[in-house]
Amino acid sequence: MSTIFSKIIQKEIPAKIVYEDDEVLAFEDISPQAPVHILIIPKKEIPTLNHLQAEDAVLMGKLFLVAQKIAKEQGFAEQGYRTVFNCNEDGGQTVDHIHLHLLAGRSLTWPPG
Ligand code: AMP
Repeated sequence: MSTIFSKIIQKEIPAKIVYEDDEVLAFEDISPQAPVHILIIPKKEIPTLNHLQAEDAVLMGKLFLVAQKIAKEQGFAEQGYRTVFNCNEDGGQTVDHIHLHLLAGRSLTWPPG
């Protein structure tokens, strides 16, 4: 089932895009939870972590490489950052298109609330 992220991929609704290639799109979160809050998504529609298949392994690894690239480019790689996938209700997932949150720019607490 398509989500609002599919519309962002198709450029049907606007987003502040920070990275794009054939397989991956990264854009600023509309409701940032830190000074830097970027969502890194595969263009392939995968609803949740529970839907991942073995064939998606390289693609998922690529999401983390894009996170690393953005962290280096934006200058917070050394200071630090957090990457998070939320899954389903208890994980706090609200958009059923798998997405890697990239958070940075302040000291992040642990454990999460
Ligand atoms: P999650 O709660 O893990 O599913 O994360 C979904 C994220 O998508 C939230 O942090 C939202 O703020 C973000 N979001 C929802 N709609 C948009 C949008 N149109 N553009 C950018 N980010 C969005």
